[in-house]
Amino acid sequence: MESCEIAYSVGFGSPFEGGSSLTLERESLPVPDRAPEKFETVKGFSVDRVIEEFESLSKDAEEVQRETLEKILEENGAAEYLQRLGLAGRTDPQSFKSCVPLVTHKDLEPYIQRIIDGDASPILTGKPITSISLSSGTTQGKPKFVPFNEELVQFTMQIYRTSFAYRNSYVTFNRAYPIGNGKALQFIYGSKQFEMKGGLMATTATTNVYRSEQFKHTMKDICSQCCSPDEVIFSPDYHQSLYCHLLCGLIFAEEVQFVFSTFAHSIIHAFRTFELVWEELCHDIREGELSHRITIPSIRAAVSRLLRPNPQLADNIYSKCSRLSGWYGVIPEIWPNAKYVYGIMTGSMEPYLNKLRHYAGCLPLMSADYGASEGWIGANIDPEVPPESATFAVLPNIGYFEFIPLKKGAELQQKCESAEPIGLTEVKIGEEYEIIITTFAGLYRYKLGDVVKVAGFHNSTPKLQFVRRESLILTINIDKNTEKDLQLAIEEAGMLLADEKLEIFDFTSHVDMSTEPGHYVIFLELSGDIAKEELLSNCCNCLDLAFVDAGYVGSRKVRAIGPLELRVVHRGTFHKIMDHYLNLGSAMSQYKTPRCVNLSNSSVLQILNSNVLGSYFSTAYNC
Ligand code: AMP
Repeated sequence: MESCEIAYSVGFGSPFEGGSSLTLERESLPVPDRAPEKFETVKGFSVDRVIEEFESLSKDAEEVQRETLEKILEENGAAEYLQRLGLAGRTDPQSFKSCVPLVTHKDLEPYIQRIIDGDASPILTGKPITSISLSSGTTQGKPKFVPFNEELVQFTMQIYRTSFAYRNSYVTFNRAYPIGNGKALQFIYGSKQFEMKGGLMATTATTNVYRSEQFKHTMKDICSQCCSPDEVIFSPDYHQSLYCHLLCGLIFAEEVQFVFSTFAHSIIHAFRTFELVWEELCHDIREGELSHRITIPSIRAAVSRLLRPNPQLADNIYSKCSRLSGWYGVIPEIWPNAKYVYGIMTGSMEPYLNKLRHYAGCLPLMSADYGASEGWIGANIDPEVPPESATFAVLPNIGYFEFIPLKKGAELQQKCESAEPIGLTEVKIGEEYEIIITTFAGLYRYKLGDVVKVAGFHNSTPKLQFVRRESLILTINIDKNTEKDLQLAIEEAGMLLADEKLEIFDFTSHVDMSTEPGHYVIFLELSGDIAKEELLSNCCNCLDLAFVDAGYVGSRKVRAIGPLELRVVHRGTFHKIMDHYLNLGSAMSQYKTPRCVNLSNSSVLQILNSNVLGSYFSTAYNC
């Protein structure tokens, strides 16, 4: 039996054991129009067993949560952080909530700093922290350090397996998109590793996972082996990695079952690059020689081993690419056996959906799971749901979850008066909450900074929709606008520009207080550098009017906030911003464009301002 041993935390067997087939009562869902294939995975791995495990876990989520908290507190009872709070060995939810305060990352920084500096005593966890993860940090402008340990790897694998099982279980659900043995065109990138002062290694959470022993086994079990060799994934230069991911994807074109990246942005980035380098890729395949742009010896050696002169394949790709119109449907055209495109497409990835659908053509988009460097939360067990409505069923054994109820509408940002966090199974359908996590890696009652909405339940565990980051990004006085509000405004402007065949490549925002009164600035990178002045002025007015928050509208009317400014930036500006973050240690795999750039983030502001092509002020509230 080829398997990795997964330690399932709350008393469930491994999915590798035989496991009886489970017939679940579910509404019948549309059957995919392609013929069902016999599903075969690596011997010993059972999709049914994984589903059975999740069904059991979610049946009595409250009890599983209680057991999970008990386990976290028992394992970490010796940690200084918990000792100081006077839990005195108690592990019940009431004692936990009364002794342990809600915290943010900032509150934990002194503890994390001591771990980084080499203090090996039990500070946040009973067992020593094995490495440090860097979150993408695009919200704050710089990466955050968070503890990482073996449990996080195990839960990542559990999440991967769970969503895979529900995607692949044709038999159980009479639907989904089963894949068999093959490969995945995965745009994944390991990032740099740093040795911290005290000797611990720090890198991004995704890199910590890719480097783990279990990752390869799991990829094999779930038929998701990457086309590219490790040298490509762990290349120090993501430009070279990306080129080789594309090349390896072409070499194994017939075997590719799906296209993946952790966050959808990387897929868009990959295919925008493909549009530029496809002829060079064809040349490499025709000649069996790797482009001179690949200079790193280990990558050259590893990819050259896969490359043979193959004029037939090169001609085939060349003629398919030449026939495409505007690269529509490039994925199914070049990868004829691909069944879907997979990756996180919710939240800050939603603005890329149109482009993704364009490249995916007839293939469905499937949104991947929900988690953070700090810990995982839920798996997408309804893969057929379009990304705009994707939900994530919480795995109740991977952490202890609490939810702070939020008010809706005008008082959007206010927490309900005396709003006490409630438990996982107490949340209500349709309500929004700020999520609080307690993990096996030393975070207790930690405010992740995300707002989620409860869309429904699977057994007794909630299915969450990602709503937005909690923080306001655009606020000057009484106005309150979140990342989601900005996204909606951009969608409106996008429709206006689409009428003129212009596309928004990427966007961000800034509050400019150097004017009196202060005003919002929206930066847009468009698909063409030449656009009619009138169109851009209209676009600017459209953006101004699209912020419908009463505080903003009122302030604009009485001129307490100045006219919104649209700054159109040169093509390539957002690439420069991405490069800047990658140089700071962010990973391409976890990259998210910052949706607001504060004055303190001077380097990124400098990149934006030095690339402005034209600036427009709104006249929307002039009369
Ligand atoms: P990082 O730790 O840098 O990878 O970022 C984690 C953050 O990414 C989360 O706190 C969310 O804000 C966002 N995120 C992760 N998964 C999803 C998802 N499925 N949908 C929307 N946003 C997500």
